[in-house]
Amino acid sequence: MAEPLPALAAGGEGSRPMSLPALMYHDVIEPGFADDSGFPGAAAAHYKLTLADFGVHLARLAASGLHFPPVASLRDAGRSACLLTFDDGGASASHIGAQLAAQGMAGHFFITTQRIGTAGFVGVDDLLALRRLGHVVGSHSHTHPADISHLADDALAAQWRDSRDRLQQILSEPVTVASIPGGFYTRRVAQAAAAAGYRYLFTSEPTTHAHVVDGCHVLGRYALWHDTPADAALALATGTGRQRQQQWLAWNLKKPLKRWSRPVYQRLRRHWLGES
Ligand SMILES: [Zn+2]
Repeated sequence: MAEPLPALAAGGEGSRPMSLPALMYHDVIEPGFADDSGFPGAAAAHYKLTLADFGVHLARLAASGLHFPPVASLRDAGRSACLLTFDDGGASASHIGAQLAAQGMAGHFFITTQRIGTAGFVGVDDLLALRRLGHVVGSHSHTHPADISHLADDALAAQWRDSRDRLQQILSEPVTVASIPGGFYTRRVAQAAAAAGYRYLFTSEPTTHAHVVDGCHVLGRYALWHDTPADAALALATGTGRQRQQQWLAWNLKKPLKRWSRPVYQRLRRHWLGES
């Protein structure tokens, strides 16, 4: 059982959470080559920053005075910490990992394990290199299902278990951190992750409030899109300005649509993001 984090406070379900910001990035790409890293298509490209823009983000964050530790080391970092996370396991994780290490920052890289070693995604050696640099490698499910929260119990359990098995086989160490593909969080998704052995589960809820489900810490994240300015990333990390409230409001306005009309929501979303 993992030690409870001071930042996640008293540890029990329903306990008062403390502030714990995390940023959710995806891939970093050359302009015009979005499909070179991570999942292809316009919807995925919406989350991919150019190398140049990401460099500006990192410089701003590095100058913020915040610490960017691994989630399990928050004990040492105190309340001025921010967690940096990168979803999908695209090939650009290697570049990102090197950039972070040069700034003394730790990243959390969430890997779609079925894609390991395939075109546009990290390979086994990349994952070992990320660990050598002090980064956290975790699961982003095995296949990145369209809506993990709608899978039957067996299929849901298999997503978390198969992914964890694969990573542990590669890294020869326990893997205890995961993020939910597509942000389709439900309590049942967290319970399945906890049952599979994860102790930290990142959602896409834009909140600093963490809670605990069956011994697994559930943490929100603020999304960074391809056009998010570095100033906004800094504001999300530090909590200054209104960026966090704006993201929370936008997320919660869309939530009823997402929950009650998923197929329609997904069609609309693809439309908004420029896919036909
Ligand atoms: Zn994803």
